[in-house]
Amino acid sequence: MAQRIVELTWNCKECDSKGILGREKQCPNCGAARESGEMKMDGLDAKGADGNNVAATVTDSELLSLANAGKDWFCECCSSGNRGDATACANCGAAKGTPKPAPPPAVPKAAVAGVSIVVILGGLALLGALCFGWMWWGARPVEAAVTGVHWQHSVAVQQWTPTDSLGWEDTVVATAEVPPVGGVGERAGWAMVPGSCAMAHFADEDYICGSDRVCTPRYRSSTESYSCSRTESYSCGEDCVDNGNGFATCTTKTCTRDVPDTCTRTVEVPDGEDCRDVPRHCSRPINKSQCHYSTQTWATVDTVVAEGADANVTWPEPALGPLGRALRTGTYTVTFGWTGRNGAASRDIHPATIEEWKTWSVGDKVSVSEPYVGDVVIKRGDVEVR
Ligand SMILES: [Zn+2]
Ligand SMILES: [Zn+2]
Repeated sequence: MAQRIVELTWNCKECDSKGILGREKQCPNCGAARESGEMKMDGLDAKGADGNNVAATVTDSELLSLANAGKDWFCECCSSGNRGDATACANCGAAKGTPKPAPPPAVPKAAVAGVSIVVILGGLALLGALCFGWMWWGARPVEAAVTGVHWQHSVAVQQWTPTDSLGWEDTVVATAEVPPVGGVGERAGWAMVPGSCAMAHFADEDYICGSDRVCTPRYRSSTESYSCSRTESYSCGEDCVDNGNGFATCTTKTCTRDVPDTCTRTVEVPDGEDCRDVPRHCSRPINKSQCHYSTQTWATVDTVVAEGADANVTWPEPALGPLGRALRTGTYTVTFGWTGRNGAASRDIHPATIEEWKTWSVGDKVSVSEPYVGDVVIKRGDVEVR
């Protein structure tokens, strides 16, 4: 940014002379000293069409020294204006005046009373204690008792039975039957039923049944011109600042503007296509020879159940034929009852073994907790019961 010095002009209040050059610190007409009331200079905002100050640039070295001497100061004795770098009044010889007294210090504002953080923390702690107490009260254990015990024994009677089964001829291996002895040691035999084979659908297989031509367009890069604009900088006048001593410092301003231009850009343009052959997939059924086979399996022919609510536990003993067996299943139940939050409540458990079940008797005491979240917890002593 270019800078230059221009000279301003002032008016004498004593004799009403106009347009006195800024370099003069006494009126050339009446000889009166330039005072602080006469420092409002003319010419600071006199601008031409180009935005520049109309005044000529000061080049004389003595005038430049005057312009760069700092703001004028005014004598306290005779009010005359003096060069900023002068130490004594050029008019009356008095030394440069005493500095301006400092303004009184600002009174600090009263501290804003803060809200006591202790009160807030105390409130939160009390609220937490109330919530915890409510949860504990709701989940506190109550006494419960065994109100019933029950056992059920189920015996399935199974018979080694001839049966017909379908199989793929290339997979089934002819096997001799070994019948069970005392319900164990059996092996199923496989014997094809003569004349029972027929072709049947086994699976579907995938195969290549031709091809499809698939094409995708191809592009190439190309450069094209287009109208655009660019931003350029230019000088757009001056800003002038009063030096306070009859001169002003003017600084060139820089502005920007958009101007038309021609730009280039890369575009993709069609350039033929790329093609290739893609295999086409088809599906076809595979048929294989499927046959009936004579074989054997365990078939459940009867189920006998015994149950009770006492300790006299027995297993049913159904009669079995020479090719039969028995499969045993036991279910054991203990029922607890108590007075809960919502009135009478009960819960069944199912011990895995009869030995475990036999440790329970009607009237045994346990404790029950019903938490607000989660399942009921039953405890015998310190051990949870499931
Ligand atoms: Zn005058
Ligand atoms: Zn003076």
